[in-house]
Amino acid sequence: MNRILTLFFVTILVFSCKNTDEKQNITDKKHSETVSTPITAIVIHGGAGTILKENMTDSLEKAYKTKLEEAVTKGHEILKSGGSATEAVVETLTILEDSPLFNAGKGAVFTHDETNEMDASIMDGSNLNAGAVAGVMHIKNPIRLAFEVMENSPHVLLSGRGAERFAQARNFQLVPPSYFYTENRFQSLQKVKKKESNQTAFVDPSIKDSKFGTVGCVALDQNGNIAAGTSTGGMTNKRWNRIGDSPLIGAGTYANNKTCGVSSTGWGEYFIRGMVAHDISAMMEYKGVSLQEASEEVIQKKIPALGGDGGIVALDKEGNIAMEFNTAGMYRAYINTEGELYIGIYKE
Ligand code: ASP
Repeated sequence: MNRILTLFFVTILVFSCKNTDEKQNITDKKHSETVSTPITAIVIHGGAGTILKENMTDSLEKAYKTKLEEAVTKGHEILKSGGSATEAVVETLTILEDSPLFNAGKGAVFTHDETNEMDASIMDGSNLNAGAVAGVMHIKNPIRLAFEVMENSPHVLLSGRGAERFAQARNFQLVPPSYFYTENRFQSLQKVKKKESNQTAFVDPSIKDSKFGTVGCVALDQNGNIAAGTSTGGMTNKRWNRIGDSPLIGAGTYANNKTCGVSSTGWGEYFIRGMVAHDISAMMEYKGVSLQEASEEVIQKKIPALGGDGGIVALDKEGNIAMEFNTAGMYRAYINTEGELYIGIYKE
């Protein structure tokens, strides 16, 4: 009898342990299904154009790569430590704006009147909020002002003096125009002007080759939020307060958590007409195509068909990255969801 009773209790014990184990397994499974490791990714560009290896010195190439790596690494660190996509975009682009290598902030190209007029924009894909500035002449970091417009004004796009009055009201220090003087950008303007004086046309199409260096960044943060931003000095020899695609939401910059974030660089007039950044997002949203397919369609077909050139960097909500351009080169870099760093300049 005793043996029967012992057997009975042992059976019950074994059964209840098994049951608890199974329950635990189910809970673990549920847990791993809902709490997946958050992913981050970041991609940047430093402008697209006729960037050829034969025109590049080793030291200049190294300088570009070092700066691109510094900027993308900074943005990645912000994302890894839980920072927002918008913060990563602003801080990354600030590094590029502070470098004379790029056509944004410090290294902005010259207008026909020998001034520097800068444009920038940012968009938050979590709420489709956006901010932009155009034609600012005394703002050290136009991307920070674009962010300020997004966060602390009821507007999306401010321009010229008004944008700078807003900056002062928000405690931005204005810098003198001399801050933006760089000898090589000034010489580029003189060259373009000389060429132009030999032409009958108002604007020599070859000027598109003397402007590359616009900067852009797209980031995906641990909360699944996507942000995109772009900053530029525009095109060398521009006049009449010409504004390009970079400060225009939908053309130069777009971000939507449902689809992707995009930053454009290239011949702005065509990117405005092609609504490049939004077009890529719209193709994904309405036609269900992948980020890569949508980017190729716009950059390799639509823009060349209009007669324009340039490129984009973009990423989607899964952290897939696209870097598409139809020019000889595009300064670019990313750190993907696996933490892998890539830096490129020319076509591969
Ligand atoms: N898209 C810029 C503009 O047209 C220039 C560039 O990206 O190189 O102002």
